[in-house]
Amino acid sequence: MNNNEILLLKLGEVVLKGLNRRSFEDKLVSNVRRRMKPCGSFQIYIRQSTIYVEPQTEDCDMEAAFKAARQVFGIVTVARAVPCAKEMDAIVETAKTYLADEFAKARTFKVESRRADKQFPMNSIQISQYVGGELGQFFNVKADMHHPDLTVYVEIREKYAYIHTPSVPGAGGLPIGMGGRAVSLLSGGLDSPVSSYMIARRGVELEMVHFVSPPYTSQQALDKVLELARLLTVYCGRMIVHIIPFTEIQEEIRRQCPEEYFTLIMRRFMMRLAEAVARKSHASALVTGESLGQVASQTIKALGVTEDVTKMPVLRPLIGTDKVEIIRMAREIGTYETSILPYEDCCTVFTPRHPATRPVLEDVVQAESVLDIDGLVAKALEGETWVRVKP
Ligand code: ATP
Ligand code: MG
Repeated sequence: MNNNEILLLKLGEVVLKGLNRRSFEDKLVSNVRRRMKPCGSFQIYIRQSTIYVEPQTEDCDMEAAFKAARQVFGIVTVARAVPCAKEMDAIVETAKTYLADEFAKARTFKVESRRADKQFPMNSIQISQYVGGELGQFFNVKADMHHPDLTVYVEIREKYAYIHTPSVPGAGGLPIGMGGRAVSLLSGGLDSPVSSYMIARRGVELEMVHFVSPPYTSQQALDKVLELARLLTVYCGRMIVHIIPFTEIQEEIRRQCPEEYFTLIMRRFMMRLAEAVARKSHASALVTGESLGQVASQTIKALGVTEDVTKMPVLRPLIGTDKVEIIRMAREIGTYETSILPYEDCCTVFTPRHPATRPVLEDVVQAESVLDIDGLVAKALEGETWVRVKP
């Protein structure tokens, strides 16, 4: 690959209602900078809703940078720009080579030029006309200024001229950090990595909470969750995973509560603990991978019973999705293969044979009242450990 190649990242044409455009851009540029760091030394700046990523040294890994750019929330498209000499012949020849496939598919096209170097002898309209004329003739394609199939971008900059290659979709969404902070309940399943991704994509910075029940759950099960968190860091940035011991709570529930409410009471404890972690971390919402009707504890009534213990908003981005859609998303974001590894989870260890699907809140509250709720919560929090997970 050509080492003078640069990347162009387009910001979302988001309607920044109530949000500040400037802080959106600042956040995004700093997120891009952080994400590009492992790929080499780059100059990164923003002009007219485009972030320019320019390698400063020969050894920049442009493939890695391109891939990373597509994982930054807030970016809608990513394109490479191929450099060539600042001469009209070189520009036309470069466009012919790089865009041959695109021209083969296009019936109409136009050229858009930008001239950062005002010393360049032609202005942008003249450049477009010249390049457009040459390319139209060469590929036998008509010009259309209004609805072209293909737009060719030419930029005349300080050292080189650049031809943009066709753009590919970026991750979309809003820059991480714009949307505050939330705690996501991350299990080893398919759903919660996807729900975490979706909330992060709305600009929310995440910390994870994971409940472990040794010896019922293994070290491998925990490692799998940490690996899922690590896979998410390419989108979400580095994050803390809080690991909370859950064995005693589950054993106490099994010892003292009616079996049909096991899962619900357990989920209420999860919410209490996650809320406590969130308060300590200055997070203001909880995220789960629940989807309506997927299992007994995810009926409308059951969800009501579960969230009754917390005052924080419980965000459930998957609430209206089918398993097929969740699997598709898991594949897209790269968590599928890890999620399907067959390790036990604390939920599967104590599953009731006949869980209540239409629970009445008062009955569940009554059923758990035999437990020392505050004591169990406090003890679990004392046993908390955490791991910082990096890309
Ligand atoms: P998942 O595929 O995310 O495991 P699920 O379909 O298995 O979800 P449940 O096991 O009922 O559903 O869990 C519902 C949600 O509760 C999960 O999506 C996750 O947010 C949270 N959760 C479940 N188990 C744990 C755990 N051990 N640690 C942290 N969060 C958990
Ligand atoms: Mg699960």
